[in-house]
Amino acid sequence: MQSISFSENLINKAYADTCQSLSRIKSKAKNCKECNLCETALQTVNSVHRGDITKIDYFLLGEAPGKTEDTIGKPFVGKAGVLLQGLLQELEMTDNLYVTNVVKHRPPHNRKPTAEEMSICGDLFLKNEINVIKPKTIICLGRTAAEYLITASLKSNDIPEEPYLKRSLRGRSFTFNHIPVLCTWHPAYILRNPEKLEELKGDLNSAKEFIKK
Ligand code: SF4
Repeated sequence: MQSISFSENLINKAYADTCQSLSRIKSKAKNCKECNLCETALQTVNSVHRGDITKIDYFLLGEAPGKTEDTIGKPFVGKAGVLLQGLLQELEMTDNLYVTNVVKHRPPHNRKPTAEEMSICGDLFLKNEINVIKPKTIICLGRTAAEYLITASLKSNDIPEEPYLKRSLRGRSFTFNHIPVLCTWHPAYILRNPEKLEELKGDLNSAKEFIKK
């Protein structure tokens, strides 16, 4: 019989625990009716990941599923997602990736999720996903996702959010639960403003350089 070393057992247990916790979060989100967004959306859009779930380098966070994501049931699969995937491939950042949104149901007519919807959904799912996965970095795609995480982080540290959120967030970094967070453009914004593509690429590359350290 092949013997398994003590450390291998621990690694396997960590992997199994992470998968189990994540699967519980996803299944709870699938049946969730805690806000009105589930009434108009076609289905829950849970996270996807590539690589080893216990060694996630980049936790990519958008605000909400759009029409294509709502139809297919996966995050970042529309035009903006294709742009993002192309950039990640070009920068060789496709290993150990986790992709999700602050809210798991599409808001009607692609409107921005309200602060209340983000707070309910984020408290129920996103914060738990981050705690379970403990990624090396979080990359906020777009201001809405960044605002949500900054607000959550400032609140837990009792810091007033007003002066922080008045400034531009792109290119800025902070920590959430001791995890470095980088804010950059949402790929949908780049589709409308292609001249900003190099800035998005540069920001993603900064995250890559950070991981290499
Ligand atoms: S958006 Fe989030 S909180 Fe609202 S119903 Fe969907 S899963 Fe539940």
